[in-house]
Amino acid sequence: MWSSSFDLHCHTTHSDGSLSVEELADAMQQQSVRVWSLTDHDTIAGWDEAKVAAAERGIVFVPGVELTCDVELPWDEGILASNARHRPPSSWHLLAYFPYNPIAEGLKKFEEWLAPLHEDRVPRMLEMIDKVNAFGMAINAEDVMSRAKGSVGRPHLALAMMDAGYVNSMNEAFEKWLGDGRPCNVERPKPSLAEATALVHAAGGITSLAHPRYYGVEYEALIQHLKASNVDAIEAFHRSHSDEDRHRLWMLAEQYGLGVTVGSDFHSFNGGHRPGHMPVIVKSLPRLISSA
Ligand SMILES: [Zn+2]
Ligand SMILES: [Zn+2]
Repeated sequence: MWSSSFDLHCHTTHSDGSLSVEELADAMQQQSVRVWSLTDHDTIAGWDEAKVAAAERGIVFVPGVELTCDVELPWDEGILASNARHRPPSSWHLLAYFPYNPIAEGLKKFEEWLAPLHEDRVPRMLEMIDKVNAFGMAINAEDVMSRAKGSVGRPHLALAMMDAGYVNSMNEAFEKWLGDGRPCNVERPKPSLAEATALVHAAGGITSLAHPRYYGVEYEALIQHLKASNVDAIEAFHRSHSDEDRHRLWMLAEQYGLGVTVGSDFHSFNGGHRPGHMPVIVKSLPRLISSA
């Protein structure tokens, strides 16, 4: 059976989305989403609010988070270009989903592990701003921080540089200064898929690789790697995927015994985006989701 009532990937002002949890819950309800997971980047700060907002609207809530992990396989320039990706990936994103009431002990460990990954964003940004200043570009840290409603990130710094006239575009800011390997970037070690997945499993949860099209890796090799890392599913039905991507990933997932997940990756209404409206085959969803 196919269903369009699941949306398992979206962001609020707790990370880089533009809607509050309440506003996003309204949007989910308006778009007839019945099973909803909130997956802000590296934070679970929105869960309590979302549980209440979902219950008030008769929506089933699945606690989720999108974890920033290391790049684990080399990318192919040709595959990236054919997917209109102009920069090599700086990280892989792993979606984690939990039972409504996770295993308490496991969740405690997970939260302790997650906190520094999240809190490190500010010190890292301050180091990057120092580097930008050292190159003669006067950028004020408060200005950058004030642009972020939730977690601060490189796009906020890029916008500040653009507004100050040091670069002409976001792209130029990344290509010249802030991208991976560029002079003002500050790298931090990121967790592996296997490490993150083990912690999620201990809390009774499961993981799914987000937007697999973005990494420039051939799908079968990618799925074999997920299997080896104990990842449970792959986001075959991501908003950016063509029908062909969805079908091939779904078939490969079946072949290798992985689940599939579905997500709009909704951040804001800009550009005509909206949550929901993505058909997915229910029996291929991980049990944690299909039985929610
Ligand atoms: Zn992502
Ligand atoms: Zn996302």
